[in-house]
Order: sequence, then C-alpha cells, then structure tokens
Amino acid sequence: MKELEKGLLRILPPARVKTRLIDRYAYASDASHFFLLPKAVVQPESIEEIKNCLHFPKSIIYRLRSGAGGTSLSGQGVTDGILVDLSNYWRKVVAENNGNSVRVEPAVIGSYVNHALKPYGRKIGPDPASITAAMMGGILSNNASGMCCGVVQNYITR
Ligand SMILES: Cc1cc2nc3c(=O)[nH]c(=O)nc-3n(C[C@H](O)[C@H](O)[C@H](O)COP(=O)(O)OP(=O)(O)OC[C@H]3O[C@@H](n4cnc5c(N)ncnc54)[C@H](O)[C@@H]3O)c2cc1C
Repeated sequence: MKELEKGLLRILPPARVKTRLIDRYAYASDASHFFLLPKAVVQPESIEEIKNCLHFPKSIIYRLRSGAGGTSLSGQGVTDGILVDLSNYWRKVVAENNGNSVRVEPAVIGSYVNHALKPYGRKIGPDPASITAAMMGGILSNNASGMCCGVVQNYITR
C-alpha cells in the first residue's frame, strides 16, 4: 500500500491522492448492492494527469468515475483498485453550432447540459431517470437510455 501511495504521489499532489480509510469508504459504493473498497482515490485535473493515472500501475484495476454520479445499478462505478474521480474539475459545457451540438466534460450532470441547451430548444438524446444525478461520463460509458429516447435519440457522437 505504501508503494502504491508513493507511486501515485509522484503523479499527483497529496491533496488529490486519497488513501485514508475514511476517504476510501466514502467512495466505496455506487447505487448497486456491491461494495468494493478502492485502494486509493485519485483526482486528476488535466489530461496529462489522467494519462499518467491510467498507465500506473499496470497490475492494478482502475476505474474512472465521473464522481458524485455513482448511480450505476450493477456495480460499474466501484472498484477495489484505483478509483479515478473526475467530479471536481471536469464540468465544462459549451453549446455549439446554434445548439445543434454540445461539447461536455465528463462530470457535467445530464440535466445541466439540457439546461444549457434550453435557449436553443434542444436537449440531449439520452434521458435516464437519473439524469439529475448522472454525469455525462457515466451516461456515455453506460450508454444510458430512458423511457423517451428509444434508439434514434440515443445517438451521441463521442
Ligand atoms: C433511480 C435511478 C434511475 C435510473 N434510471 C436509468 C434509466 O432510466 N436509464 C438508464 O440507462 N440508466 C438508469 N439508471 C442507471 C444509471 O443512473 C445510468 O446508467 C447513469 O448514466 C450512470 O451515470 P453516473 O454518472 O452515475 O455513472 P457512474 O455510476 O459513476 O459510472 C457508470 C460507468 O461509467 C464509467 N464512467 C464514468 N465516468 C467515466 C469517464 N469519465 N470515463 C470513462 N468511464 C466512465 C464508470 O467506470 C462506470 O463503469 C438509473 C439509476 C438510478 C439510481
């Protein structure tokens, strides 16, 4: 564990490497009935830092999680490896092309994207019932759908 912590601290500052038991427990569950205690929770804030986290160490199972989302029902949001939490720094949303497209970072909550698109009379295709908590990283990775989006409206260009 000490080795793991030392290695992570070479990549990220101490404030963004969480190895205390209380912090690991705080991130140990999603909305499923599974419970996995991560070895560490890390919070990268740049693409370079994310790349470094994913390259280190190869034997450890890591899992990206947009953050407070964690609404997955089948244990997708938990890991006993390294949990890469993106919730604090990845919340940008920019409507483009007169609202016909939107560029989002992974920790933007789905309903917030719809809020940003409202002036253009547009919304994103996926409409999971958890849209006020689920984040774009989780919505895309899970290919989340909803009662209204069917197949056609669920199309998203990544
Ligand atoms: C009350 C309730 C209602 C729900 N209703 C629906 C519904 O109608 N339709 C539906 O499809 N689902 C539904 N779900 C399931 C779940 O909410 C969705 O799948 C949602 O999209 C998950 O988003 P999240 O941000 O919570 O992701 P998380 O649970 O945090 O993560 C989901 C998966 O995505 C991965 N992931 C997250 N962020 C990233 C990233 N940045 N890069 C790479 N991988 C990433 C995680 O590793 C994990 O495997 C519901 C859940 C609840 C609790």
